[in-house]
Amino acid sequence: MNNFTYSQATDTASALKLLSAGPDRNAARFLAGGTNLIDLMREGIEQPQSLVDITRVPLAEVLELPNGDLRIGALVRNSHLAANAAVRERYPLLSQAILMGASAQLRNMATTGGNLMQRTRCYYFYDSAAACNKRVPGSGCDALEGFNRIHAILGTSPQCIASHPSDMCVALAALDAHINITGPSGERRVAFTDFHRLPGDTPERDTDLEPGELITSIDLPASSSGLHSTYRKVRDRASYAFALVSVAAALKVADGVIRDVRVALGGVAHKPWRASVAEDLLRGKPPRPDIFATAAAAELAPAIPREFNAFKVELAKRTITLVLSELAAGEGAAR
Ligand SMILES: Cc1cc2nc3c(=O)[nH]c(=O)nc-3n(C[C@H](O)[C@H](O)[C@H](O)COP(=O)(O)OP(=O)(O)OC[C@H]3O[C@@H](n4cnc5c(N)ncnc54)[C@H](O)[C@@H]3O)c2cc1C
Ligand code: SF4
Repeated sequence: MNNFTYSQATDTASALKLLSAGPDRNAARFLAGGTNLIDLMREGIEQPQSLVDITRVPLAEVLELPNGDLRIGALVRNSHLAANAAVRERYPLLSQAILMGASAQLRNMATTGGNLMQRTRCYYFYDSAAACNKRVPGSGCDALEGFNRIHAILGTSPQCIASHPSDMCVALAALDAHINITGPSGERRVAFTDFHRLPGDTPERDTDLEPGELITSIDLPASSSGLHSTYRKVRDRASYAFALVSVAAALKVADGVIRDVRVALGGVAHKPWRASVAEDLLRGKPPRPDIFATAAAAELAPAIPREFNAFKVELAKRTITLVLSELAAGEGAAR
């Protein structure tokens, strides 16, 4: 491991200042729960020159805003967020998604901001002997012709087919959340679905966050509360495994037709994938399994399967159809 400096921030201003204090802002990292960053440092994939511990920055609250939105501080631990009464009552799919991720011990450490920023679980990204454009831009991608069972099928590029590993982020994409960010150029707000990037020609960039910027909170809109919703995660083991395919969905039916529908997919793309093609086809239609299946097929039509992940195309279609059919039948309890 390389040498690095360690400092503790007490508020957002000192966090930004400490991060910019070193010779190279690109080589400085915020340290939150450390459950991803420390692993990456141990493997030599992340080699920061300085770590700024932000765990004492007062961003660990869930607040109700005057307009009815719910604001989640970036340092709220995943376990606290899943257990929060307002989240469980108004946004149950978020609570379900978090509880299906990692283990209780990890959720006690992991933070909201860190979950958004966690990096892919692509085996070749973690193997410094492998070619990986995300780790070393321009070096190639061993996953393209390698063991690509966990990799993406939508929005991929010839440079990278990594998938995004988060469960929580899939629920946040379905809920139309917004991310609040502060940095050297001031504060800004980003729609959740615009925050994570597709790989394109720059797979080394996972998100829209600029060097030196800090995620301060996430807002859940009041308009997304109270929807009939659920989160379904399909994985190799019942616990402690990342999603092969996951679906966060919400449905509102009135007068026999779909008035509001949200579908987001995990495990299939470089970012949490909002299934807007399927949503557009479903609005105004009757909530029938054959119509759900047609919409799911349209969403997956552009998929590019590889040797070991072709099963994800059918799995995603079937999971979308099943989840929406259960919601329509009023049977949306998470499994
Ligand atoms: C064994 C194991 C199993 C797991 N299983 C799952 C799973 O099934 N589903 C799932 O979703 N996740 C899973 N995870 C991932 C886990 O959820 C993440 O590691 C965790 O959410 C990261 O949060 P953290 O606070 O520990 O981040 P850290 O490790 O502290 O930081 C991660 C990155 O985020 C940056 N960062 C942190 N906070 C901020 C901020 N406020 N602003 C800007 N940048 C910030 C850091 O600089 C760093 O680059 C698993 C992890 C492990 C180790
Ligand atoms: S899929 Fe992406 S992360 Fe994995 S080896 Fe290829 S470039 Fe690296």
